[in-house]
Amino acid sequence: MRYVSTRGNAPVLDFEGVTLAGLAADGGLYLPEQWPALSADAIRDLRGLTYAETAAEVMAPFVGDSLTRDELTALCDQAYGRFAHDAVTPLVQLDHRQWLLELFHGPTLAFKDVALQLLGLLFERFLTGKNRHLTIIGATSGDTGSAAIDALAGREHIDVFMLHPAGRVSDVQRRQMTTVLAPNIHNIAIQGSFDDAQAMVKAAFNDKDFATRFRLGAVNSINWARLMAQVVYYFYAAVRLGAPERRIAFAVPTGNFGDVFAGYVAAKMGLPIAKLIVATNVNDILHRALSAGDYSVGGVTPTPSPSMDIQVSSNFERLLFDVGGRDGAALAEQMRGFEASKAMRLTNAQTEGAAALFTSDRVDLDEMAIAMRWACDHAGEIIDPHTAIGLAAARRADVGDAPVVTLATAHPAKFPDAVERATGARPALPGRIGDLFDREERYTTLPATFEAVTAYIAERATPAS
Ligand SMILES: *Cc1c(COP(=O)(O)O)cnc(C)c1O
Repeated sequence: MRYVSTRGNAPVLDFEGVTLAGLAADGGLYLPEQWPALSADAIRDLRGLTYAETAAEVMAPFVGDSLTRDELTALCDQAYGRFAHDAVTPLVQLDHRQWLLELFHGPTLAFKDVALQLLGLLFERFLTGKNRHLTIIGATSGDTGSAAIDALAGREHIDVFMLHPAGRVSDVQRRQMTTVLAPNIHNIAIQGSFDDAQAMVKAAFNDKDFATRFRLGAVNSINWARLMAQVVYYFYAAVRLGAPERRIAFAVPTGNFGDVFAGYVAAKMGLPIAKLIVATNVNDILHRALSAGDYSVGGVTPTPSPSMDIQVSSNFERLLFDVGGRDGAALAEQMRGFEASKAMRLTNAQTEGAAALFTSDRVDLDEMAIAMRWACDHAGEIIDPHTAIGLAAARRADVGDAPVVTLATAHPAKFPDAVERATGARPALPGRIGDLFDREERYTTLPATFEAVTAYIAERATPAS
């Protein structure tokens, strides 16, 4: 499988290359040159497979020759063996139409573990024996950071610099990052928003001098391998609800557009998806883009669903490229305009292409709390604020008679205050991380300037050999 950049002007890479690369050299994001297809028979054959077996089956065409089938299977077994539920991503029924897909049974209690546990192993596999070193720079609105740190702590050949917006992640989220004291892990609290942190990470990748001095790699969802790993659970859930004979809708609490883009990839591969419901909180740039073609950046409002407090959604560029006719030069021009003015209109082709599969909704604080109470009162399920935003959108979406699966992206115990406010119940941390508040923390606070951040990294990272 070959991978091309959305901006049409970067080297074509294989799976190993695209896993170790972050942003493409032209500032774009990598995508497969064409979508592999799974036939209806192949989808039917997924019935009864374990999660790890399903993962190897769905990902094999994307991995191509970079791993043997046995290696891929072994990595899937190892990554998904660390989950606390044997189904890895179990389905839970809420009523006659509504389902939850629990993606939070990994080590750090958010769906990011599903992709990052595998990505950590892929990095190690591709770096070992080559005497290469990778410097990971990431920005996190909370959950990516802890999942990446858990997956990469103590691994050889890798240094991790993780930027989070100071004071804007929950205490549980911060402690899950800052209590990992492995010497290759560096936590940085940025005095700014998530978008500030993400902009600095992008700038570091775009700084040719810096990016070559330290071989930079990405754990954000700009990394293709992450999206690939997330495609798996759409198949896993849909075949259990009757695919390929039946069409399934998914409601996805959305921030950086990675998770829901993985659903788009599943549809491109042949999974019969009735609708992908993009649920945003009041930071609604994606809802405005999908409903009115208006992709313009507003201010970021902090909410109880911090992982969705995002205005610039990196992966949206992948969708615009694919539905807009895969014209890299035109998209590069459009994105340059957006980066200069912080606003753009979608083209007609982009609007119509997206509307074929996507619908969107914006969920405010009251609606989020109502969804949390509904799940509690009608199905006995305690859900987190992100999941509640997805569920609120799922319950009012028009998808005919398709079952609707809301992706449950975080364990409620990651956001105990918001859950308690809405439902009166305070969710407890699972036993395996119950001592989180007794552990020692370590992190550095830096101003939100490119100079401060790159100087800090340059002092501590291992230069490329
Ligand atoms: C990251 C995250 C999201 C948003 O996912 P994207 O792939 O960025 O759209 C939603 N909910 C939770 C709990 C998350 O950690």
